Amino acid sequence: QAKNLGKNSICFFELEMQRSIDHRLHLESKMREAIKRNGFELRFQPKIDHGGKLIGAESLCRWQLPDGEWVSPADFIPIAEETGLITELGNWVFEMAMATLSEIQKHYLSGFTMAINVSPLQINQSNIVRQLLHTCTHYQIKPSDITLEITENVLMQDAKSTEEKLRRLKSHGFQISIDDFGTGYSSLAYLKHLSINELKIDRSFISDIGQDPDDDAIVETILAMSRHLNLKVVAEGVENHDQLLFLQQHSCEQFQGFYFSKPLSETELLQFVINHHKREISL
Ligand code: C2E
Ligand code: MG
Ligand code: MG
Ligand code: MG
Repeated sequence: QAKNLGKNSICFFELEMQRSIDHRLHLESKMREAIKRNGFELRFQPKIDHGGKLIGAESLCRWQLPDGEWVSPADFIPIAEETGLITELGNWVFEMAMATLSEIQKHYLSGFTMAINVSPLQINQSNIVRQLLHTCTHYQIKPSDITLEITENVLMQDAKSTEEKLRRLKSHGFQISIDDFGTGYSSLAYLKHLSINELKIDRSFISDIGQDPDDDAIVETILAMSRHLNLKVVAEGVENHDQLLFLQQHSCEQFQGFYFSKPLSETELLQFVINHHKREISL
């Protein structure tokens, strides 16, 4: 009896596994197609400083299937990484994000900055530094106006070569930010000897601020530590005024989240810039 049941459940899992493999293969071939025929888009989420000034945006990749369905980056970025397609997709993201940045800097707001998510495989791409510098030159953008967001897990892989890449990127002026800070498997030691400018507090710590004393303590501690280490801090996922108030009271310098704006299309971002480049956003 029990044996039979066990056997059945194994079959069930195999079926599920086969389904998910099929699904991934399907997505992979769709993704190859989409890279060729412009099936990807970027959205931009504004970043606001403690005085309500618009300082820049983070670019976030979107994928729309031919049938209109949207696939989340949480689903397609891992597949792009496994298949190596991330290199091509990542280069496309650099290109598009900088094209938008250059448009904004030239016509609206010269100090505007752009944050770009970079995956581990891209950092280890041998020509990443040259590639980024080339795109900057092409769009007449200063590397210091670009923030590269990497996750802590990047630092776990091939630590020596990653360390060297980050050092070179930083020496050219690129800003290096640790995304989703506090959620990865990593040690604090890297904050000491790696070339990092900024920490981005993960939104899982922000969401229950004021309600969960543990989250209050974690966020306060990250902010205090960053101050001592001279690191900038961005709070991601700020959704309401209470969270903002807490963050302001603890000297957080930059905010991002639905409270200010959802991720915007390029046209919407330009409108947002026009609305806010002179007038500060009331906090
Ligand atoms: P992330 O870099 O941590 O981006 C923040 C995510 O939080 C975005 O999800 C954004 O839409 C969402 N978000 C922003 N504000 C709020 C808020 O107030 N509340 C809530 N609930 N969510 C908020 P998204 O766009 O689905 O991106 C998910 C992840 O996919 C990103 O996390 C990033 O790690 C990755 N990703 C996106 N674009 C790229 C890309 O071009 N390259 C790479 N390598 N990864 C990317
Ligand atoms: Mg990010
Ligand atoms: Mg993040
Ligand atoms: Mg996050």
